[in-house]
Amino acid sequence: MEDEGVEVLLVSLGADLPYLTGYEAMPLERLTMLVLPVSGDATLVVPRLEAPRVEERPDVFTLRPWDETEDPVAIVAGLAGRPATAAVGDRTWARFVLDLQRQLPGTSWRRASEITGPLRAVKGHDEVAALRRAAEAADRVAAALQAGDIPLVGRTEADVSAELGRRLVEEGHARVNFAIVGSGPNAASPHHEPGDRVIQAGEVVLCDFGGTTTEGYCSDITRCVHLGPPPAEVVELYAVLREAQAAGVAAAVVGTPCEEVDAAARRRIAEAGLGDLFVHRTGHGIGLEEHEDPYLVEGNGEPLVAGHAFSVEPGIYLPGRTGLRLEDIVVATDAGPEPLNRADHDLVVLEV
Ligand code: ZN
Ligand code: ZN
Ligand code: ZN
Repeated sequence: MEDEGVEVLLVSLGADLPYLTGYEAMPLERLTMLVLPVSGDATLVVPRLEAPRVEERPDVFTLRPWDETEDPVAIVAGLAGRPATAAVGDRTWARFVLDLQRQLPGTSWRRASEITGPLRAVKGHDEVAALRRAAEAADRVAAALQAGDIPLVGRTEADVSAELGRRLVEEGHARVNFAIVGSGPNAASPHHEPGDRVIQAGEVVLCDFGGTTTEGYCSDITRCVHLGPPPAEVVELYAVLREAQAAGVAAAVVGTPCEEVDAAARRRIAEAGLGDLFVHRTGHGIGLEEHEDPYLVEGNGEPLVAGHAFSVEPGIYLPGRTGLRLEDIVVATDAGPEPLNRADHDLVVLEV
């Protein structure tokens, strides 16, 4: 905060608060906010009725419950003093940001993620271990998919999505964040919403799923299966994709700018003349949230450091026809990139 010239950090909803205090605020219309000055003690302002849920950490913060008739924004503004610059949590409800701005008219405002993003992006040993366990849990669900233990032909995408979610929970997830199932032409839409399309033999099924484990850390994996022997074109596309994904993982060496990992994956797809069909960035950081710093995208020149955890997930999408994506979570370490997902990286062909 000192380096960034931020006098006070104001953190509400989202993962910054549990990262800093161990407490996660409910997305209520009542304000919960940590007031963390650059020097001095932190105060957690919470609605009185939420206070019993807070595990008190006197070494970390003082609790300041507010009553129903109090103005919590005034309490926060008072604790903040009259800062020249404040950073406010990216997920804070706009109504509270607007009210704070009115009560602190002399303050200039920054995003809290400018402070917390780089901190949260670098995982400690325990965090990497938690991400590894999350990845292993997702791998077990992927392995069931690839073994043919999850029936596909004749079921709707939504049905399969629900089963992937159930299995994530059985494997130790507290919640499912998404379970994309794109069959046939729907695989061409990277964030396809699984619906009532019935999966048929002779097509690709792209499954991209993840959740938050009971430890609080996220998983995220994509695997494709083909129902019956794939046509030569799909085999060729997948071979390119697999090489691109491996090139991205191999490039994820400490000191390499994030955008070069993106470029490494993209280069192989472009060489095959398919560059226009890879329509999204190569990856995103992962931790307490599914998507967080660092982002592997052109324009992000930040070098990877040991402890960065992120996805490497190139895709090739043929609109109206089919799509393929391959995704692993990878940690940059001093010994080189460590992929956390080990489920079979091939286009697994299931008998129908
Ligand atoms: Zn995505
Ligand atoms: Zn994913
Ligand atoms: Zn992802």
